[in-house]
Amino acid sequence: MRTRRDCNVNDAKGEIQSDSWHGNLSIVATVRAALRDKRLLFAFQPVVWAATGEVDYFECLLRMREPEGGVVAGGAFISAIEQLGLIGFIDGYALKQTIEELSNSPKIRLGLNISSLTARDGRWLRSLISLMRNRPCLARRLIVEITETAALHDIEESARFVDALHHAGCRVALDDFGAGHTSLRQVRALAVDTVKVDRSLIQNIADCEEKRLMICELLALIKSFGVATVAEGVENAGDAAIVRATGFDYLQGYHLGRPTIERSWLGAVTDTAAAASAFGLGSAGG
Ligand code: C2E
Ligand code: CA
Ligand code: CA
Repeated sequence: MRTRRDCNVNDAKGEIQSDSWHGNLSIVATVRAALRDKRLLFAFQPVVWAATGEVDYFECLLRMREPEGGVVAGGAFISAIEQLGLIGFIDGYALKQTIEELSNSPKIRLGLNISSLTARDGRWLRSLISLMRNRPCLARRLIVEITETAALHDIEESARFVDALHHAGCRVALDDFGAGHTSLRQVRALAVDTVKVDRSLIQNIADCEEKRLMICELLALIKSFGVATVAEGVENAGDAAIVRATGFDYLQGYHLGRPTIERSWLGAVTDTAAAASAFGLGSAGG
């Protein structure tokens, strides 16, 4: 399986390089077969309250189970599907799966990722609106995560999309902020509920004074818009302590909980307990 880095690019003549093209086609065939054989599934990763370590919601991250039993992360195949313009069938599937999860587990909230192309696709939005009609208790528990590239494409169109999601009753998060070129002015114009700061700005923050200062200033500006903030990619206790002290509302990353295919909210050991222990707050369940 190729990685996200391998799946691109146009050559000097504007033609897609044939090895990437064939690689992408073979990834698409593999993913289509996985969809047909019901081998596309979610891993769930907690997003926790900075102050308490309690889980606010679980982000749904697509996984593909290989026929041999191995599991491939979304990062390895999603960009290939996007580049061939076929992400609609994945995001449509992911929407239905997320709604089913929400129906089955009334106490949890879930985050659903959508591609930049999907954010501009009226069919996906119509499908969400129709699936959520008369089910406000489901909509209230759904957080739609839009990537920064999607938001950048056309800020007014994106703002209308965010507005429509709000009307449907959902929360909206701007994903990967800081990885691209979205300006703070655009963040304000989008009127999202939450900004997720990309892990490239968070990782090793405990060891980098310059990063700490930059994040402090950035956070103050984002918070002045009245939006909640998530620090992504928190991998160790040192970074967790710094981002909490900086004033992030929520934390996400391997230190707080890795993505798992098991639904941890159904298990005996809750994520709240695991996250509390990652915070050094002790674990209620032992
Ligand atoms: P994302 O939305 O930014 O998701 C976070 C990615 O970072 C996930 O990779 C997750 O496994 C990984 N991650 C989480 N915590 C840490 C950490 O502490 N350190 C490091 N190094 N990585 C961490 P994954 O699952 O491979 O997903 C990659 C991307 O694929 C996602 O980035 C998202 O943009 C996209 N994606 C995932 N599921 C879907 C989906 O259902 N639909 C669409 N359109 N895109 C999806
Ligand atoms: Ca995301
Ligand atoms: Ca992200």
